[in-house]
Amino acid sequence: MISLLARSLPTIGKFSFAAMIGMGLIAGDTLAQQATPSPGSAKAVFGAVTLPTQGAPQSIGFYAKGCLAGAVALPADGPTWQAMRLSRNRRWGRPEMIGLLERLSRDAARNDGWPGLLVGDISQPRGGPMANGHASHQIGLDADVWLTPMPRRKMTADEREALPFTTMLAKDKFLTINEKVWTPAHARLLMRAASYPEVERIFVNPAIKKKMCETWTGDRANLGKLRPEYGHDSHFHIRIRCPAGSVGCTPQAPVAAGDGCDKPLAWWFGPEPWAKPKPSTKPPVKPREVMVSDLPKACQAVVASPSVASARAATLDAKAADATAETDALPVSGPVSGDTPPGQIPQQ
Ligand SMILES: [Zn+2]
Repeated sequence: MISLLARSLPTIGKFSFAAMIGMGLIAGDTLAQQATPSPGSAKAVFGAVTLPTQGAPQSIGFYAKGCLAGAVALPADGPTWQAMRLSRNRRWGRPEMIGLLERLSRDAARNDGWPGLLVGDISQPRGGPMANGHASHQIGLDADVWLTPMPRRKMTADEREALPFTTMLAKDKFLTINEKVWTPAHARLLMRAASYPEVERIFVNPAIKKKMCETWTGDRANLGKLRPEYGHDSHFHIRIRCPAGSVGCTPQAPVAAGDGCDKPLAWWFGPEPWAKPKPSTKPPVKPREVMVSDLPKACQAVVASPSVASARAATLDAKAADATAETDALPVSGPVSGDTPPGQIPQQ
């Protein structure tokens, strides 16, 4: 998720905000306390739909303003993944996104010492804005993956609701990786995800990006895809590009060339991202809720379209996906140094 929470917490100082990040409070579940969306708002309408539309997959609009037709679901369980927080019904995406997650889970298990993926939110059955947790994830091309390896046993649905997030950050230091939880396998997983051409961006906490910049000794060509963002310390967020021929999907500008380990990363370790907003003399304006009519016009038809017969009917067949990708496993990535001490970031 990409949280704008930082800007909505004007009274929180840098210290406590950093501590919140350390505690993982900016991650996926945090925004659940937001006000209930009004009836008729895009959040309420898209949040109430339980099944996707029939027909061909279509991503309509932009990652943070759009909707999704013809979605398919990631199976709740696969040989190398388990979907989390099943009650949210956010396992839906473009077939390209679901296929990518299955492929990543398999490649990482085979080559990177990562036993399997815990998959968080992808999109709602018809995409659109969510009542809590995300600004993007609206067109089936974004997915959150936990930075916790999959346990060997199959978790119950209740366990998948309750398992707490584990932050990669040290609790008592500003934007610093906790060496007790971070492993070289985390680094290999991230670079594996970045290796696929359809993956354009991966959002991670600035401390994770810094750690990768300092320790990744393999090919750095895809390091620039790792983008520092608020939160993202217990999960990472994979964004794939608009699939070829998808009319109506608005692409995002490509990432700048280079590994992104220089100035833009340094900015996150300065005061600016964590500064309190300047007090305004004007009374605060409550932003207007996004209505369905604010989304691309085709999203109104997506809301009204008939549903598939059942969730099961629209769940991507894991076995078929396994068979098609069997031949194109990626080579093992380069070694990662896991014991480089983290740079000392002064607390301020
Ligand atoms: Zn996300």
